[in-house]
Order: sequence, then C-alpha cells, then structure tokens
Amino acid sequence: MRRNIVAGNWKMNKRFEEANELVNDLMDCLEKIDDLKAEVILCPPFPYLELCTDMSQESYFAVGAQDVSEHESGAYTGEISASMLESLGLDYCIVGHSERRAYHHETNAVVANKVKQLLANKISPIVCCGEVLSEREADKQFDVVREQISESLFGLNAEEFGKIIIAYEPVWAIGTGKTATPEQAQEMHAFIRSIIKEQYGAEVADNTSILYGGSCNAKNAEELFANPDVDGGLIGGASLKAEDFAKIIISFK
Ligand code: PEP
Repeated sequence: MRRNIVAGNWKMNKRFEEANELVNDLMDCLEKIDDLKAEVILCPPFPYLELCTDMSQESYFAVGAQDVSEHESGAYTGEISASMLESLGLDYCIVGHSERRAYHHETNAVVANKVKQLLANKISPIVCCGEVLSEREADKQFDVVREQISESLFGLNAEEFGKIIIAYEPVWAIGTGKTATPEQAQEMHAFIRSIIKEQYGAEVADNTSILYGGSCNAKNAEELFANPDVDGGLIGGASLKAEDFAKIIISFK
C-alpha cells in the first residue's frame, strides 16, 4: 500500500548537542499528534545516526542516512557502506540528491549502484530526481526525470522496485524559497507514476510513494500534499525546527 511519508533531510547542519535537542523537541511534538497520518523519517548527518536510532525506539519516527557508498566494503577511505547502515538498524537512505549529483559527481549509474547496495542490505532507498531551472525553461523536465529514473532504477525487478521511494525535487526549488506550484508537482508526480506503470504495471505504480521536495514548508505543505499523486515530502530547511517539521507532518487531510 502506498504510504504517506515526511522525511527530514538535515543536510550538513547541527552540532551534536543541537541535534540532540532537535530530536527531543520533535519527540515532544510527535507525542502531541493524536492521529499521525504519515510515516516520519529523520535523515541526520552520519555522526548522529546512532543517537537518532536509539531515540527512535521511544518515538514514532524511523531513521535514514543521507548517502551511502556504491561499494560493498574495503579500501574506500571516508566512505560508509550499506552494511554499516544496516548494522545500525537504519531503514532508509537518500540517494541521488541534487547536491550530491552537482558537487560529488553522482551520476545515474552511481545512483543505480548505491540502490543495489541498499537493497542488498534491506534498506529502502529514497531516490531523488528533478530538473534544473534551464531544463524546465526548455520544457525538458519530463525527459530529464524519465532518464534519471530509468537509468537509476529500471534495472530492478518489480519486487526490488517495491522497496523504492521516489522524491521529486526540482533543483530550482531546493533551498531557494521558490516552491513548485501544486499543479506543477501533481503534473510531474503523475508523470513519474505513469512511467513506473509502463515499466512495472499498475499495482507497483499505485503502491509507490512519491514525495515532493523543494522549499516545502509549514505554509505550503497542505496544498502540495492534497494532490492525488503527492504522497508527502522530503524536507530540507524546514526539518531543522521541530515545530515547523511537525506542522508539515500534520498537513495530510
Ligand atoms: C532537500 O534538500 O531535499 C530539500 C528539499 O531542501 P529544502 O526543503 O530546504 O528546499
């Protein structure tokens, strides 16, 4: 069944004591929500993963990493393997974020390798896709997203694909305060679902959660999440304040 999901991508923010405070505040906020309509996932920086998995035992959130190595193990100084994440009890990991694509040369082929490592370790990949501004201005957004998704994911079989969460994040909307309109989000999410249907059939497509990311906040989340193909959000800046993040979590009708 398709799930509503709100995932917080903390990116490279917070010192340890601040991270601790944020998780505690968020736990207080989650405690006060009577009818939680979404799965909540926190994606803190690597050093705080264990703090979060420990605290998740007493709360209503799951934990994900922000990246993983495409390699299994060995001489890759500084890298973190999917098996290490699994050993910490993580259920999710973001891959293909536009910041990793732009600053760390993460290609669709690399994303495909990372996805395979995660699936082999029973971790659900949250796979990001999305066009840059010049591609949208040239009306190429559908071609770009189709290529990202097919090259990074369509090598999977249907069972494997069933573990994937997609995050559509138009790059021009990330951290810019410029959100896609609800119509633009719905149009792209419906397109993504249609190409999943072409590849894997209606059941897999219907069951895939497709999140929106890009300056989603406490004010615009309700309008975005009200769309039939928008199943929640991947939230950057607004996940760094517990109250704002909690407001997004309760934005489902
Ligand atoms: C993100 O980095 O995934 C993101 C959506 O960031 P922001 O919400 O800050 O635009």
